[in-house]
Amino acid sequence: MSKRELAAAVLRRSGALTLLERFRSKPGILIVNHHRVGDAASTRFDRDVFSASADAFDMQLKYFKRHFPIVAGEELEDLVSGKTPLKRTYIAVTFDDGYINDYLVSFPILKANGCAGTFFLVPQYVGTSFIPWWDEIAYLVRNSPKSQLTFQTPVPATISLAGDREQAIRNVLRHYKRPDNTDGERFLHELREQAGSILPSTGRRFITWDEAREMKAAGMTIGSHTQTHGILGQMSTDAQRWELTESRKNIEANLKSEIRSLAYPVGIHGAFDEKTEAIARSLGYTMCFSFYGGINTPTHMQPTNLLRMATNRDPLLFRAETVLLSRLGKLPY
Ligand SMILES: [Zn+2]
Repeated sequence: MSKRELAAAVLRRSGALTLLERFRSKPGILIVNHHRVGDAASTRFDRDVFSASADAFDMQLKYFKRHFPIVAGEELEDLVSGKTPLKRTYIAVTFDDGYINDYLVSFPILKANGCAGTFFLVPQYVGTSFIPWWDEIAYLVRNSPKSQLTFQTPVPATISLAGDREQAIRNVLRHYKRPDNTDGERFLHELREQAGSILPSTGRRFITWDEAREMKAAGMTIGSHTQTHGILGQMSTDAQRWELTESRKNIEANLKSEIRSLAYPVGIHGAFDEKTEAIARSLGYTMCFSFYGGINTPTHMQPTNLLRMATNRDPLLFRAETVLLSRLGKLPY
């Protein structure tokens, strides 16, 4: 049992979770992020981008609604800017990448619960069957007949395929996400040659502009996730500026409304930096989201680095983390 699981089990047994739920929450914005909602086992690609099943997502929304206001769009923007005073914990629910699951699974569940969410789109992916690098890496590694993969890019490394294949996928993905991996195409070229497996053809994998317009008309917020989903921290200043400008231009042209939100691709430390934040600010983005965990409190509220966390797939850990963050402003483990 991990430290987290142990802490959650103790909380449950002691009844402390139920007791903590009765206390007033602290001022803050707890932002959760999903990539794909649905059945992870059904995909031939990256299973780790599935953050919840449809039922688990529905349960999460109902739990949030019972305890907190769920905000998006201008309501969220006003809380971030301080226009609306922050007096309790608010929840925001966001989705990165614009997978078709957003439209088919998450959107109907949000609507049925009367909640608004924020969806970050990559214009290059919209309406296509494109297979992004993380999905390609997952497929090629899972289906490789080899026992190990040897990389020269960005630094020499050998990754064993002998043990748990899903763990090997994570190891290759970690290697790809290194801040010094400035040539993603070269990395993928090496992987394709090494793996000895070939990508399958697929049907459409990302939402269309029509679907995005329908979601927006129903109260969802649409933001930018850059033009090509490049990892900004690995790019030159000019390339970063292009990603942020081009994506917004395309989304605004298709949705006929102003785009002011941005989610940094990958979103972990090193996937963006102060230079990225300065560019986003200069271009007029009012809310930019990272993805390495934490809660946004009045003393830690950075509009160009709004903290987001993954929702825990385990229902008890999900509840424990939500309660602890909203009542204590941090996780004690
Ligand atoms: Zn993404």
